[in-house]
Amino acid sequence: MLRGVYPLSVKGRFQKLHRWTGLLLQAFLFVTPWLTVAGHPAVQFDIGARRAFILGEVFTPRDTIFLVIAGLFGAFSLFFFTALYGRLWCGYACPQTVFLEEWVRPVERFFEGDRGQRMARDRKGWSLDRAARKGAKLVVFVLMSAVVAMTFVSWFAGARTLWGGGAGLATYGVVAVLGGILFFDFAWFREQFCNYLCPYARFQGALADDGSLVVAYQVELGEPRKGTGACIACEKCVAVCPQGIDIREGFQLECITCARCVDACQGVMEKQGHPESLIIYKPLVQRPAVRPRTVAYGSLLTGLAVALVVLLVQRDNLDATVARAPGTLYTVDADGWVRNTFFLRLSNNSMDPVDVSVASTMADAELLVPPLHLAATESGMTPVVVRLPPAAQRARTLPLELVVSAGGTTLEVETTFKTGG
Ligand code: SF4
Ligand code: SF4
Repeated sequence: MLRGVYPLSVKGRFQKLHRWTGLLLQAFLFVTPWLTVAGHPAVQFDIGARRAFILGEVFTPRDTIFLVIAGLFGAFSLFFFTALYGRLWCGYACPQTVFLEEWVRPVERFFEGDRGQRMARDRKGWSLDRAARKGAKLVVFVLMSAVVAMTFVSWFAGARTLWGGGAGLATYGVVAVLGGILFFDFAWFREQFCNYLCPYARFQGALADDGSLVVAYQVELGEPRKGTGACIACEKCVAVCPQGIDIREGFQLECITCARCVDACQGVMEKQGHPESLIIYKPLVQRPAVRPRTVAYGSLLTGLAVALVVLLVQRDNLDATVARAPGTLYTVDADGWVRNTFFLRLSNNSMDPVDVSVASTMADAELLVPPLHLAATESGMTPVVVRLPPAAQRARTLPLELVVSAGGTTLEVETTFKTGG
């Protein structure tokens, strides 16, 4: 008995679209970790050092708000596009689909032939020829899994470090585990991942509504089959389906809207002199694109995008906060000057090392600050002693502004000076 799905290869306009979106996504995945901006990675999520490089900016745990907003933006984008276009992500952009379509199936066809040949050989049972073909295919799958795993981990560990052998043992351990999972997926698991494991496939039913785009069989044109309807029951739409389903039975949750059946039926119908595929992209019910669900998701997306831009524009290369040294208000020195001691906490958000200078807006104040140097993305703390000369009369509390400068950025940090007056 045959197990698994043997999708027949298919050509058509949606498959061309797949090829192009797949190529673009692969270029993004494979090339990005190698790009640099001003000597630093263009994009790298360096978990070990708790920082992320993104297009010339460096983000650290102090920037968690950006991570939260970007995560919410990604989630609501998925909600928004699912409400409008159904599972287009699954059909065109999901790495699982891209790698299966662009890597796994072409390699399988190269070694084992198309659907009919594979099914016939598998039906016959084991032979030297079958074992050699499957063995060669699996060796290529191992290499593919290793390359893809190295590429995924490059986004975190840095492509040059990882491929140059400079990453730690634990990182290569992650590559090995990820490579093993990918090999398992490429060699056997495949469509079962979408059907049983993928969380998006599970909740997409709640995100879509009857106005979302799905792949659907036009019953009114196709039925009755082999009769007055246009469907000639060639079963080609079933043979090409990577999910192993028959879309003529109606909408099914397993459908990833890859449109292979649309292209297959288009080819069949053209030969029959019928202008249109019996399977098309359409919503279950014609509804306007502007409806409560899409408006709600769209408004949230706009709000998040605005918040992200505003925060990015306001973001400084330097963060500074000041706090009074614990347990002290003021001290009168032997020379009669009044001393307040503070701790200045600084964070260098830039990718360059900086020397920090501190001044005060109080004209007669004397500042004692040890020299402070911060490496790229480094945080540090320094004591700041402010002294005021003796005076006949002063308010008990004076406003104090510390002017902190580093790497072309100047910040004013407000606190108060206790005189004891
Ligand atoms: S039914 Fe058609 S669109 Fe859905 S998964 Fe199968 S081939 Fe792709
Ligand atoms: S490919 Fe078209 S004609 Fe052939 S079985 Fe499917 S729906 Fe019918």
